[in-house]
Amino acid sequence: MDGVDFGYGLPSEIVAVTPPRLLVGQLQPRNITCRAWNWFQHPVLWFNDGNLILAVRGTLFRIYRGILCDTSSVFQDMFALPQPRDNVEMMYGCPVVYLDDPVEDMVNFLKVLYRGISIAEEIWSPQYWPVTRAMIRLGDKYDAEAVLARGEARLMARLPHKIEDWNALYEHFGRPSFQTGKYVEDVIGMVNIGRLRRNKGVIARALYLCAQLKTRLLLDGCRGADGSREYLHNDDLACCIDARPGLRARNHWLKTTCVFPQRQSSFQCDRCCDKYDAVEHRESMHTLEAGPKTSDPLAHAGFIRIQCEEYDFCADCTREFMKKDRKLRQDFLDDLWNDMFPDGDPREEQIVEEMDESEEETDEDEG
Ligand SMILES: [Zn+2]
Repeated sequence: MDGVDFGYGLPSEIVAVTPPRLLVGQLQPRNITCRAWNWFQHPVLWFNDGNLILAVRGTLFRIYRGILCDTSSVFQDMFALPQPRDNVEMMYGCPVVYLDDPVEDMVNFLKVLYRGISIAEEIWSPQYWPVTRAMIRLGDKYDAEAVLARGEARLMARLPHKIEDWNALYEHFGRPSFQTGKYVEDVIGMVNIGRLRRNKGVIARALYLCAQLKTRLLLDGCRGADGSREYLHNDDLACCIDARPGLRARNHWLKTTCVFPQRQSSFQCDRCCDKYDAVEHRESMHTLEAGPKTSDPLAHAGFIRIQCEEYDFCADCTREFMKKDRKLRQDFLDDLWNDMFPDGDPREEQIVEEMDESEEETDEDEG
């Protein structure tokens, strides 16, 4: 305690009337050197009665230790053992803990923790992904289970595994919103988060969306934290490019023969059977003419319904074909991993089979 002449108890009058940022240097006890004494104080995540200062790459956050420890077992362990006082840097009477994380991630993580608010809940808002990424990355790193779970729920909302949710998210007026929205390349970061969490479902669905991006966008990467760029691993990049011909073939197959029956098939309708051949031939042409979008079999969810209307199929046929279409699209989504990695995942040894478990849990939550 030698030399500590302020900082415990109530703040002095000077602190109360002067912006604290200007006082950091003046108020530091002379014989304790804190490396971070002149770092930038975050304007929002600085609580004057906070009892812990996080020093993160040039920015200071003054927060409440109890809440942090209650959330994160890593911080709980860090403070479980009394630290020798000589080794602890102090500022404003608070211990200073240095962390090496992107400031942007830390801001989003701490906002979720301390502001008690939901931030960027709108899935297409520009901040949705940066906040989600921070919740997962730091939730994982600091073992903050509740934050991590919320982050993963947000990620699942962006990469749903039920075909109805996928349609609702990516189809607007027949046009896939994915290809027209802003920050579409954020899916690159989602692949990397999927790799971090070893979640096969997330990796496959995010890679599938990456395969829809223009190659230039894939190479340029997506926005990372703190103004950096984030890129796909070369193996994943190659996978996206190599998967496209296969996806085009799947698209063609999904929208033609596998939905509309052959004359010899078990489903026959006397009213409509002579239309089957015509629709099959016409759809082959139609799909082939659809051009570059054809590597996205999940796009154009209303395709079959529109064809049924166009060919004036009866209500029974329409219902049957749409039911079949729904099942085929769901099966395709469930099996996406094999379409993205027909020759196996070169990074497979890093993956733990935990997708089934986590997705069953999600089903229970929803059901
Ligand atoms: Zn019919």
